[in-house]
Parts: sequence; structure tokens; C-alpha cells
Amino acid sequence: MIKNLSEFAFFGGEPKFQEKLFVGRPNVGNRDRLLTRINDMLDRRWFSNSGAFVQEFEHRVADYLGVKHCIAVCNGTIALELVIRALELKGEVIIPSFTFIATAHALQWQEITPVFCDVDPKTHTLNPWRVESLITPRTSGIIGVHVWGQSCDVEILTEIADKHHLKLMFDASHAFGCSYRGKMLGNFGSAEVFSFHATKFINTFEGGAIVTNNDELNQKIRLMKNFGFSGFDNVIYLGTNGKMSEISAAMGLTSLESLQEFIEVNRRNYKCYQEGLSEIPGVRLFPVDDAQQHNYQYVVLEIDENQTRVSRDLLVKILHAENVIARRYFYPGCHRMEPYRSYFPHAGLLLPETEKLTQRVLILPTGTAILEDDVSKICQIIRLIIASQINEYELTGN
Ligand SMILES: *Cc1c(COP(=O)(O)O)cnc(C)c1O
Repeated sequence: MIKNLSEFAFFGGEPKFQEKLFVGRPNVGNRDRLLTRINDMLDRRWFSNSGAFVQEFEHRVADYLGVKHCIAVCNGTIALELVIRALELKGEVIIPSFTFIATAHALQWQEITPVFCDVDPKTHTLNPWRVESLITPRTSGIIGVHVWGQSCDVEILTEIADKHHLKLMFDASHAFGCSYRGKMLGNFGSAEVFSFHATKFINTFEGGAIVTNNDELNQKIRLMKNFGFSGFDNVIYLGTNGKMSEISAAMGLTSLESLQEFIEVNRRNYKCYQEGLSEIPGVRLFPVDDAQQHNYQYVVLEIDENQTRVSRDLLVKILHAENVIARRYFYPGCHRMEPYRSYFPHAGLLLPETEKLTQRVLILPTGTAILEDDVSKICQIIRLIIASQINEYELTGN
């Protein structure tokens, strides 16, 4: 396909893809079903406030996950904020820095200090032993993040939380449709939170949900997400507006109907990446445990530039020029973003694995917008870039 460097778009050649391939292009289910639902909604003139679609969506999600309660909300960030508040977290809460910034912001927004904990380089999730070492008298809770749909070490985190009388919750934004030891994620800790943002596996345009097996917590959060209203004219609690709209739930219901198909497409793409990228020295595809249920929503590479001799960042630039819009999630890490960078300028010293991962990780496009052929071509490009042994030293030297 490419014989010399000048054929790469980065060096002046034609891009290998006419159109940009994105990470997280939305999955769209059956369009006719969606439009029918939207028409029904217009006929009913019921657009929000726990309408028929929101109620149905909540039941479907709870059934699918085998969890007692599902509260649909307007986005994943509000979902996190609501649970944090309902659990009465305060002081310090331990979270990974290797996560989307919303996990940290949801705490800081309520003047709770996020304490960044390092991750296990094998699972990219909280290292439970490091968590324990960060507990202080001010610690009130732990938020684990199931990044890439990879479950946290739920068992050990639960033991640690119990032992120290801390609240435990999970940011499961990436993990809808994934399981831990045969049980769907959503069932662990006091509550778990999903995001149904457009880029996520199941989307409601914007949206999120809180799931819990705790009746009291369910009641409290239901009040909180609707200004504390308990029936007409009766406010019994401090609340906010976290409601999911009917059009979002219509999209959610339609997406759920296509869930198996989305998984199959993602899995097909994943297997194709696995084959296409096999045995490239320094390139590791983040593994998925086939024994668990998984959504295969993220194709995660780790680039060891000592072996590839091409840095992750140069690889990203070359791929972008070819119209493959690979992403560096969660570069540079929450602790290197404001306001945390100013609050904790030395946080990185305790986060060696996070610092390494943010330099190594690369996310590749998948989802229903990406064909198997696209995946094969992307793999070929990556293989050729690395085989070419371009490195930044040579580039700047030219
Ligand atoms: C997407 C995401 C969120 C935020 O969800 P929104 O619905 O965009 O508010 C929080 N945490 C993680 C890990 C996410 O990926």
C-alpha cells in the first residue's frame, strides 16, 4: 500500500481515507422506530417530567442490568453529582486521575477534594492497595471508574470501603453492557452511574442514569433530580433539575433494541484490530476478557515508544493526516488539568503509572460507523508507520 514515506499524507501524500473516521461516532439504531416514537411523543404532548418513554427506559435498563432501581437523568455528570450528594460525601474522596474530567469535577463542584490515586497498569483501573494508602480521617468515599468497560477490582475495593467505613460508588460511564464475575456492572457499591452521551455505547443524545439496589437512595435521588418535588406544589427536599427528556428516552429505547447488534459490530471490529495489529513490537491492544459480557466500545492501544521507535504523539499526527482521528484519552490526566494542576502541582509524583499511561494510550475508531475494511486499512497504516522507523529525531533533523 505505502512504499515510501512521501506516500503518507503527513509527508504530502493523499490521505488514505476520503472522510474522517472518528472515535465515538454515534451509534444509530432503527431510524423508523425512533421517528415513530418521536411522533407518538408529539401526539401525546408530553416532553419531560417522567413521561412514558422515560419510565419505559428506566424499566428496560433496570431489567437488563438486573438491578432494582434506575433513575434516568439528563447527563452522566449530573448523575455523578446527584449520587455524591445523596451519599453525603464530604472532605476527601479517592478517585483515579486516569478518567474523564467529569469524575473529578463532580466532586470539586461540591467543594469536595478529589484525591487522585494511581491505577493498575494492567487494568487501567484504581489500584486498591494504593487506595488504602491514601485514606485519611477526612476521607468519606471512593469512586471507582470502569474505564473502557473494564471492571474495577470490585471485590477488594468493597472490602477496603467496608473496613474503613467509606462509601463506595462507581462511574460506569464506559461500562453499559459489561459484567464483573458474571454479574452486570451497575450492581456494585452504593450506586453506579452511566453516561448516555452521544459518543457512548448506548446514547440518548445527552443523558445518563443512576442505578442502585438501595431503596432509600433511590427515593432520595428521585426527589433530588426533580427540585425535591413530591407531587404538585409540595417540595420536601433540596433538589436540582436532572430530568431526562422524552426525546432522549425515545433514542435510548431505540438504542437498547439494537444493543446486541452494536456489540456484534464492535466485537467484529475489535477482532479485526486484534488480527491486524498482532505482533507489532511495542503495540499492545488492551485485552477484553471474553468470559465476561463486554460492549467492545473502546479500542485501546498502548504504544511503547522504546520499541516502536515512533512516539505515540507522532503516530497520532500521522494518523490524523490520513483522516483517522485517533484520540489520546485521558491525556494529560485530570491532575494536570485545572483547577487540580494548581491545587496539587506535585500530584504526578504519586501517579507514576497514570503518567506513563497518558503518554502511551491511543484510542482507535470503532462502532457502527466503521467497517471491517476501514479497520484493516487502519492496521496496515499503523504497521507501515512503525516499520518505517520514522522518529521525531529524524523529523526534526530533516
Ligand atoms: C462521558 C463520561 C462522563 C460524563 O458523562 P456526560 O454524560 O458526558 O456528562 C463521566 N465519566 C466518564 C468516565 C465518562 O466517560
